[in-house]
Amino acid sequence: MIWYPKKMSGQLTRIGPAAGLTSLVKRFQEAFPAIHYDLFWETRLANAQAFISGLGRCVRLYGGLGRHREIGVEGLAFALAHETGHHLGGPPRHPFYASLSSERRASEWALSTGLPEVFGSTVGHRYGYYGLMQLAGMWPRHVVDPEPFDV
Ligand SMILES: [Zn+2]
Repeated sequence: MIWYPKKMSGQLTRIGPAAGLTSLVKRFQEAFPAIHYDLFWETRLANAQAFISGLGRCVRLYGGLGRHREIGVEGLAFALAHETGHHLGGPPRHPFYASLSSERRASEWALSTGLPEVFGSTVGHRYGYYGLMQLAGMWPRHVVDPEPFDV
């Protein structure tokens, strides 16, 4: 993952427990039917992941991220869009996983394509902007590029 480094501030919309997150995942599933989404709620792992399994291209969201106090619906939506971008973003490719798009490309795709497609242009851009802020505060190790995205 790659998160834009910016201080945590601004909007954070709480999402309900598993039910609210399930409906968020469902929106992505409907928008991108080629991807298999799932929610692994019973874990403290605060992460999301793109991977390829016997089912094909998969995106998994972990419960520790879904329950995190500093992560609202914006951050969760961005995480889902970023992971989807690893599958659908195209080149440049990830240096270690040739079947996935690079970290930067996955985030660019999330902002330019993924979030607007799921939420519409206005909400999609807002989710991208605030979602990046929320995630940047949490995973500073994933910040590899100081350039702001054009949101
Ligand atoms: Zn990533």
